[in-house]
Amino acid sequence: MQIESLFKSAGLHIRDAQLEMIQAIKKSLDGGQKLVVEAPTATGKSFAYILGALWANQSSLKGDKAQKNKKNIVISTATVALQEQLFFQDLPFIQKLLSENGEQKFTYMLAKGRSRYLCLRKLYHLEEKDDVVLKEAKDLENQFNKKWDGDFDNLEQPLNRELSKAIYNNSSACSFSRCEYYQDCPFFVARQGLRKTDIIVTNHSLLLSHLDLGDGAILPKFDQSIYIIDECHHLPDRALSAFSASATLFGSQSWINDVDKLLNALPVALVDRNRRQDWQAICKKLVQDLTQMQQYIDALYQTQEKEEGVWRIKSLDSQVQLLSVEIKKGAALYANQCDRLKSELEKFIEKSQIHSHESLEKQFTQLGFLLERAQNLQMLWALISNVQSTPPIAKWVSLHGEKNISTQQHELANLNHQDYEVHASPIEAASLLKQMFWDNVVNGVILCSATVRALGKFDRFLNATGLRNQADTLLLNSPLLYHHSTLQIADMKFLPNNQKDHIQETIKLFNEQYLQGFEKGVLVLFTSIYAMEAVYQGLLPSIKRITQVQGDRSKQMMISLHKKRIDSLKPSVIFGVDSFCEGVDLPGDYLARLIIHKLPFSVPTNPIDKTRAEWLLSMNRKPFIDMSLPQSSLKLTQMVGRLVRTETDIGEVIILDKRLKTKFYGKSLLENLPPFKII
Ligand code: SF4
Repeated sequence: MQIESLFKSAGLHIRDAQLEMIQAIKKSLDGGQKLVVEAPTATGKSFAYILGALWANQSSLKGDKAQKNKKNIVISTATVALQEQLFFQDLPFIQKLLSENGEQKFTYMLAKGRSRYLCLRKLYHLEEKDDVVLKEAKDLENQFNKKWDGDFDNLEQPLNRELSKAIYNNSSACSFSRCEYYQDCPFFVARQGLRKTDIIVTNHSLLLSHLDLGDGAILPKFDQSIYIIDECHHLPDRALSAFSASATLFGSQSWINDVDKLLNALPVALVDRNRRQDWQAICKKLVQDLTQMQQYIDALYQTQEKEEGVWRIKSLDSQVQLLSVEIKKGAALYANQCDRLKSELEKFIEKSQIHSHESLEKQFTQLGFLLERAQNLQMLWALISNVQSTPPIAKWVSLHGEKNISTQQHELANLNHQDYEVHASPIEAASLLKQMFWDNVVNGVILCSATVRALGKFDRFLNATGLRNQADTLLLNSPLLYHHSTLQIADMKFLPNNQKDHIQETIKLFNEQYLQGFEKGVLVLFTSIYAMEAVYQGLLPSIKRITQVQGDRSKQMMISLHKKRIDSLKPSVIFGVDSFCEGVDLPGDYLARLIIHKLPFSVPTNPIDKTRAEWLLSMNRKPFIDMSLPQSSLKLTQMVGRLVRTETDIGEVIILDKRLKTKFYGKSLLENLPPFKII
């Protein structure tokens, strides 16, 4: 592939860093290696990895063999915005470019979760609904028979919520190849299409579900795939949420008992006396164990120290641990019964001569729901009962709304009217990713992002993902001229820990200096909603009128209004928190002054971070140095990264936090930012 001439033919200039990235990706994939790339803003990283992967995928063999050796390139992103950019802009552009230059054509497709597709069986066996829903279902059926592919995102009109809930595609209610609609099923048709597609665009959550379900479950198999993980800095956190679980105590008991109704509605041939007795015994024991657990937790919750209503379980007493094991076993037995009965019911429906299967279909779907819930319960209590794991599992209990709890249930159990939600999560994703992903990769993985390093090193990312000693790293030079822009540490009297005075000082500076009479775009990034609201309330009315605060309207609408104002030569200011620190592209005058209210130190507030901090302390390590400081360095780089988006952008960053000058870590935080001119 003649990369440089390809760019030339489209009148594009290839940047050195971009070419370096393409070559490195080709080399790494050729060797089936893993490579982590930090590709700063404006490198053109998506073009680079698409071209690099296509190039590596082009076999030197010709004809049939080449086709046979071709792999599926799976590109996973963290955000919908990037997925859409790839699917609607970058891939069509590159496809056209290659075909105009006589290169091999390629196909591409979006891989979505099942729930984005229609389940035909549910549509055709829709239970009685009101007339409006039935009419809409009929319309949908007609659309499907004409040209609609069953993907809800491709519908012209949004779907009625009640109808979409009744007909969405999910695995627990699916009978797979035994389903009479399997051949036309939109989800399976799309999945078949994936196997024949050169480039599959997906998201981290779907990729992680695929890894969890087993090789080939959703996406092509490991030996058939090349992986590109963009926005890879989100992967560890996404993995943690994919492998965590939670459930309520009384809430669980209520669905466990639902099985009684279900058994009564099933044909006698499927539910004989023995089966009924087995089920009843499992349910009785499981409910008893959960009630007992509720009693323990009820008593403990009252006496334990709480952090914002959350009781973090730091150690399990032996009784609770034994009971957790029992609940885990009970949930496994329940799941097993559901699974067996589901397959038998499926065969029964298939064989029976009954014309209308509607009520049996309903029981089939219900069994699927119960199976999912039982598996979640099993996973939760397996995590809770695990006391051996190193690092430890984060476990916590929070109060759950009273509304769902029946008074009778509480009275029976002699408890107060409160349900508890029990949560558990691993605190590091490294070993899970290693075991489920990295160890199985055959044809190479490229992980990239504009910000991977923390404090100038890849270490934090490599440790968090389990890629230490497994992956090469590549740092590309930025094509942006940061030294044309300035970074100023405001001479503040107060430190941010003196929150009240620091906010008052900020308001004064904004009213008199930073937001007064400035004609171009300003973005102010806060680390808390409280501070953002408090500062906004103190602004002069004339400044309030030009300021939008995150939450006023959608992020997209805020940005488009901001651009409109700047295009009409009017001043405009945006106040934002976390979601404005990443993925916001305001080039030129849209953003000429970026103000950071406070260094983004995340005090460990959630149970996962707190458990991680304690674990580090137990090994004589310092959570501030090991966790907070690198996190803050990465976040600060993302924040200042909003300012300079193109080679001609010039502006100023103002940081209202003098700890950058006075604290021991200030220097290293500054040194690892892009090379602004510091004033
Ligand atoms: S194969 Fe599964 S998802 Fe598809 S129509 Fe049948 S039951 Fe629904």
